[in-house]
Amino acid sequence: MTKLKVLSETDTSLRILFSGVNRAFLNSLRRTMIADVPKFAIDQMRVELGVFKNEETGELFESNYALSDEQLAHRFAMLPIPTFHDDFYFQDECPDCKDMVVDQRGCPSCQIIYTISSSGEDGGRSVVASEMNVIGDRRLEIPEAYGSIPLTKLYDGQVLHAYFYAIMGRGRDHAKYSPVSGVTFYSRQNGKINVKTRSKMLFDLNLNITAKDFNKEGILNDIDKVDLLRNDLNHVGSGTDLEADFNDAITLEDVEDEFIFQFETDGSMTARTCLEQACKELAGRFEALSNDFAEAL
Ligand SMILES: [Zn+2]
Repeated sequence: MTKLKVLSETDTSLRILFSGVNRAFLNSLRRTMIADVPKFAIDQMRVELGVFKNEETGELFESNYALSDEQLAHRFAMLPIPTFHDDFYFQDECPDCKDMVVDQRGCPSCQIIYTISSSGEDGGRSVVASEMNVIGDRRLEIPEAYGSIPLTKLYDGQVLHAYFYAIMGRGRDHAKYSPVSGVTFYSRQNGKINVKTRSKMLFDLNLNITAKDFNKEGILNDIDKVDLLRNDLNHVGSGTDLEADFNDAITLEDVEDEFIFQFETDGSMTARTCLEQACKELAGRFEALSNDFAEAL
C-alpha cells in the first residue's frame, strides 16, 4: 500500500517520503506536475501605442522601449499568476464562453486582466512585477514575494501602457503554464557499517555523524542524518587520500520501494495544492482509461 510522509514543507516546496511505490508511479506523478496541473499565465498582451502627456508636468512620453514586443510578452508570460482551481475554468470549458469563437472568449470565470502604466526616468528605471495591477479580485495580484521580478527598463521619455490577459493552460502546451521546477525523486538510502574497525577512520575525522548514530546492527536510517552521512562520506570516498584504506567500510544502501520526492512551485500555487491537483489529474486520467476498457471489453 502506498504511504506518504511529509518530511518538510514550505508554501512553495515539499519533500515527501513515499513508501510502497515504484519509479514508474513517481515518474508519472512528476510528469503530471510538469505538464498537466493547470495554471494561469499571461497569454495576450495589448500595448497602447502613441505619445502621452503628463498633465501635471507637461512632460511627453512615447510608448517605446528597448525590448522587442515578443521578448516583453515572454517576460510577462513567465510571471507566477495566482491560480485558484476551484474558482476558474479553462476557456473551452467555461459555461459562458465555450460556445464562442476563440477570439471572443474571456469572462471573469476564465480570464484575469492586468494593467501596467509605467514611465521611465533619466538613467533608466527597472519596471518590476509589483507595478502590475489586477482588474477585480485582489487575491489575484502578483504575490508580494515575486513583486521584484524585473520586466524591462524604461528611460527618460519612454512609457509602457499595456493590458495583459491571463488564461488557464497546461505545461504540455507551453512552459509558462508549468507550475513546478526541480521535480525530482531518488531512492531512500540507509547508512550501513560493513567493517567496524575501518569505519572509525570516518568517525575520527569529527564530522557530523558518529558511531552512536548507528543502531546495534550497524544501520543508520534517520533520513536527515543519512543526508549528513552522504556529505561526510565525501571525505573518505573517491578522490581522497583515505579512499583505499577506508575501502567502503560504510556504504549507503537503497531501501526497496521507498523514495524521496521533492519539488518547488513557481509561486502560482502552494506546493500542497500542486500535489493535490496532480493526484486529481492522474486519477481522472485512469478513470477515463478504465471506462474505455469497460466499454471495449
Ligand atoms: Zn469565460
